[in-house]
Amino acid sequence: MNFLIVGAGFTGAVIARELAQHGHQITVIDQRSHIAGNCHTLRDDNTGIMEHVYGPHIFHTSDELIWKYINKFGEFVPYINRVKTTYNNEVYSLPINLHTINQFYKKSMNPQEAKDWIKSIASDDIQEPKNFEEQALKFIGKDLYESFFKGYTKKQWGCEPSSLPASILKRLPIRFNYDDNYFSHKYQGMPRDGYTYLVQNILSHENIAIKLTTKFDALLKNEFDHIIWTGKLDEWFDYKKGHLGYRTLDFIKFEAEGDFQGTAVMNYGNEEVPFTRISEHKHFTPWEEHHRTIYFKEYSRACTEKDIPYYPIRLVDDKKILDEYIKLARDERGVTFAGRLATYRYMDMDVTIREALDLSKKMLEDIAQGKLIESFYHQEGIS
Ligand code: UDP
Repeated sequence: MNFLIVGAGFTGAVIARELAQHGHQITVIDQRSHIAGNCHTLRDDNTGIMEHVYGPHIFHTSDELIWKYINKFGEFVPYINRVKTTYNNEVYSLPINLHTINQFYKKSMNPQEAKDWIKSIASDDIQEPKNFEEQALKFIGKDLYESFFKGYTKKQWGCEPSSLPASILKRLPIRFNYDDNYFSHKYQGMPRDGYTYLVQNILSHENIAIKLTTKFDALLKNEFDHIIWTGKLDEWFDYKKGHLGYRTLDFIKFEAEGDFQGTAVMNYGNEEVPFTRISEHKHFTPWEEHHRTIYFKEYSRACTEKDIPYYPIRLVDDKKILDEYIKLARDERGVTFAGRLATYRYMDMDVTIREALDLSKKMLEDIAQGKLIESFYHQEGIS
């Protein structure tokens, strides 16, 4: 069959590869001038440092199959993400661990003492946390929440943490030991040659043609047997039920001599500091040597139609609009919706790849049974 895949990020690339390997003809288009979507990396012209153009991406997973899969397309160098945060001019370790707790409270507690201490200061009247704020108050208490999460989250999401889902905070663990690894996954690493190289290798197959700087046009529907849309769900429907809310990011780039902050990612918890974090990209490749450095101040704001969407907000109003689009999508024929933007979810890279592989498998089974003429909608976890 002849497929059009709209979007050359991980979702589009993985599906393209899987279908191509089964003899299908694939055209991948992307409106940007490069592949790899928001994971795009390139070597900075002046310094040669590998730049994460749309912000830091660290690969981490506990999914054995995905780790094996991704390693087929490029070499990974072990990399542990250790994040710091500055609050009131003091530097602390994240995710909240025994070092953070002892430093914050100027104590020297052991793990059990710290557990008892946090229990004594956390809110015990919250049974089932209904939102981000309640989740934080229940697990770390008011002081740590207000210093490390409240201001940062208001800057990042542009709303009160009490209106955000608890799931956002659940991304971060709290540890009663000195383990400051930001992620708890079994595998973690950085692609030695960047993410764009990985995606390039995934897409490198004789049955795949890539067209960059090419916007989707509805007329293309007639030229292909089936379309896989990895763009925004609301955009596919010309925003006829309204806009799904996203946050976008602005990066201000700086170049200097030496080492600016001594680490890859420094968050800023204070609300009055306008940026959320500063990332210094040469620290993502500690095996390389660079005399100069580049770093980026990261600012979050509401995303307009012209901006690049990063984080789906998913507040109550968004969910209502999302329901409307899901109904429309169920009736749509000849198109499959896949990935972060088309299912409007906050997804890590490993989950994106896993879903793309699972979806490809399902599509291939459906094709074998002659069912793909009927479109289907990738609904898993969407509502
Ligand atoms: N967060 C925070 N303070 C921090 C780091 C994270 O309040 O110093 C909150 C914030 O709301 C953020 C969420 O935790 O959106 C998830 O953090 P994560 O580091 O997973 O965000 P990402 O790297 O995906 O932007």
